[in-house]
Amino acid sequence: MFNIAEVIVDVPAMQTNKPFDYEIPMALATVVQPGMRVLVGFGKGDRTLQGFVINLKTLAKAPTGLKAIKDVVDLEPILSPELLDLSSWLAQTTYAFQITCLQTILPGVMRGDYEKIAYLVTPDAPEAAALFHDKKALTVDNQLTNAQLTTLVRLKNSGAVRFEYQVHNKARIKTRQAVILNKTAAQYTQQAATLPKKLQRQKALLQYLATQTAKTKVIFTKTLQADFSASVLKTAEKHDLITIEAVEVKRRVLPAQTEIQAKQVLLPDQAKAVAAIDAASTAEKQQVFLLEGVTGSGKTEVYLQTMANVLTHQRTALMLVPEIALTPQMVQRVYQRFGDQVAVLHSGLSEGEKYDEWRRIKAGEAKVVVGARSAVFAPLENIGLIIMDEEHESSYKQEDTPRYHARDVAIHRAAYYHCPVVLGSATPSLESRARAQKGVYQLLRLPKRVNQAPLPEVHIVDMRENIQQNRNLDFSRSLADAITLRLAKKEQSVLMLNRRGFSSFVMCRDCGYVVKCPNCDISLTLHVSSHSLKCHYCGHEEPIPKTCPNCQSRKIRYFGTGTEKIEQELQHMYPEAKIIRMDVDTTRRKGAYERLLKQFGQGDADILLGTQMIAKGLDFPNVTLVGVINADTALGLPDFRASERTFQLLTQVAGRAGRGDKKGEVFVQTYNPDHYAIQLAKRHDYEHFFATEMNIRHQGNYPPYYFTVQISCSHPEENQAAKAAYQMLKRLQPALSAKAIVLGPTPRAIARIKNRYYYQIIVKYKSEPKLAPLLADILQTTQRSFSKQLYIAIDREPLQFM
Ligand code: ADP
Ligand code: ZN
Ligand code: ZN
Repeated sequence: MFNIAEVIVDVPAMQTNKPFDYEIPMALATVVQPGMRVLVGFGKGDRTLQGFVINLKTLAKAPTGLKAIKDVVDLEPILSPELLDLSSWLAQTTYAFQITCLQTILPGVMRGDYEKIAYLVTPDAPEAAALFHDKKALTVDNQLTNAQLTTLVRLKNSGAVRFEYQVHNKARIKTRQAVILNKTAAQYTQQAATLPKKLQRQKALLQYLATQTAKTKVIFTKTLQADFSASVLKTAEKHDLITIEAVEVKRRVLPAQTEIQAKQVLLPDQAKAVAAIDAASTAEKQQVFLLEGVTGSGKTEVYLQTMANVLTHQRTALMLVPEIALTPQMVQRVYQRFGDQVAVLHSGLSEGEKYDEWRRIKAGEAKVVVGARSAVFAPLENIGLIIMDEEHESSYKQEDTPRYHARDVAIHRAAYYHCPVVLGSATPSLESRARAQKGVYQLLRLPKRVNQAPLPEVHIVDMRENIQQNRNLDFSRSLADAITLRLAKKEQSVLMLNRRGFSSFVMCRDCGYVVKCPNCDISLTLHVSSHSLKCHYCGHEEPIPKTCPNCQSRKIRYFGTGTEKIEQELQHMYPEAKIIRMDVDTTRRKGAYERLLKQFGQGDADILLGTQMIAKGLDFPNVTLVGVINADTALGLPDFRASERTFQLLTQVAGRAGRGDKKGEVFVQTYNPDHYAIQLAKRHDYEHFFATEMNIRHQGNYPPYYFTVQISCSHPEENQAAKAAYQMLKRLQPALSAKAIVLGPTPRAIARIKNRYYYQIIVKYKSEPKLAPLLADILQTTQRSFSKQLYIAIDREPLQFM
């Protein structure tokens, strides 16, 4: 009998997107298990790669040429059977490689890191000495010059040098040297008494340790070294009085929590919701709830109490939030309720911090996980409840492969654990609300604000009139007056600049020339603080031209509105006002977002000016004015979700006003005052918006009436991208029924990004059983038949159509 492991190797390509058989050597017979990482030789060069064992089997006879596992990376499985299973489901449903899915499920540091080493075989080969000096091996990386690389290749071709790959694992457990107190206080005291007088320092150490044993068994060496020299510690160790060793220190993300906050007495609507969710989790029923509640209606309290309930049943809870860096107040509340049982996972953590939080969850030390999109893969077991706050947020969809939606993953995991999922929002996505309508999800509603506070009054300001009366295109008279009033009353204002699909750019007023990115088909964005123009897609940066590159005119000017420009304008209008600006530029550094928010919360500023990032989760009682500077920049975009996004954003930002005792007011500046998304946001009328928008989707054959899939082809040459898209269309058509609707091929709205041209096809369909297998096949065959320059991306239910 031969013991075989099925291994997915670390090569994201179609040819390797299947398990390969490896023999398990005798020495590892009892070690290797599914869910572990191993090192295996792969391909002609027997290059060492990392791989995942996904299954074990035995064969009566060993196939010829079967390779053996070289080594194990882990001593126990890092992926549970559930998560292994999830990786293959994810690969199938998102048209991604399984290795990519396996890596997506794990923290980034657990990805294999390969190093190419050149070994010198013939030391006296010409040119070798200049390159290798006295060494026998050297690392092939970008430290080498092109000339050195060329020499190296020549040496390799002549057989004087051999290349080998080594796998590194970046995951490091953080340790510190520590002194372990392995004797009792009495023993230390007694030992100290026997020491002769001249061993004064040794004596002092033992006396000191005697005072510490009741408190701790481990003291960091560094702390002791302030008073005792290394040699004194060494001597104590030699006499077996202490042990000096490296102990693990976990990088903690949250401060140690001492005070646990009590739960609140529920209001009737909250109690109903909690009872329904509790019943499902107690009955171990996979049920999806849609918790629809206006901002401030107490959804968070419902989350906290239902999570507490599953913990009492020795099960775990997972809570997803859109982007944790943007919702520090939410994390704080979960933490105050559950203390050290909480682990946090999000992109703002360092790789090391993520790794440690991940291990705390895996070890069962953390029973509640709060995190952004990728936290949906948290290695929790025995999950009793999954919560997804602000379920309509587009950040839950990953735009890169694997193109998954965290909601789908959450529901899939809940099916495995037989537990409920709670989707919460003040403005649910149309997809979810429609499912609730059909009874697929169960609808729970919290229609009133907890403190009975009325929702803020929303004024729509028609900016078309503003153009005629007032030369300022950014601030209407009414919004300006409202700000003046707040400054006089010492109340705070929040101003939002909607920047989706919008930027400030530089244009020549004489010839109309717009400065564009040399790599992408898009105008460069002006950054006042760095006096430069930047491409937001590829990062290209150049100085602001003083004259027009096209006609040499000096009338080259800024257009559009950026946060920096608005800030300058505000400061000019209100010289005495303190302003905090929050956008990608001011919040790039770690902790900056939290720091700015804290300053605003403490009342250090009168006005908080920011982009969409300020619309979420802020809860400051002294904010009585919210101004939306440009409500409709998103409405003009060629995307069928434009109205939905505008409605969601306006509702959300309006919810920031009047959270305390003082009444809140909102001003929305728009060029489309009669648009239903704006009118219904003014009335806080989600249900009416849902009905209106469903009608429009029905007429346009859009989701949620139709499913959508987007297939995009990209290539450095435009005609190749277009050609591939037309070939794709030819393959799709015969497999689709007459009911399917095919749009395209069309170039994307921004046709070129990073020197690649994009063409896309969108298929809208209700039921096309042949489509999924065909797409899987397309991915496979195009990988083989086209040049490496062509990328095909398949996106199920894309959120970006541009
Ligand atoms: P949402 O998450 O729907 O925006 P929150 O859960 O943040 O609403 O609730 C708004 C405010 O009401 C919070 O300050 C919260 O502490 C408070 N609150 C929630 N439920 C109750 C309750 N049952 N009794 C008293 N206060 C409550
Ligand atoms: Zn660019
Ligand atoms: Zn010009």
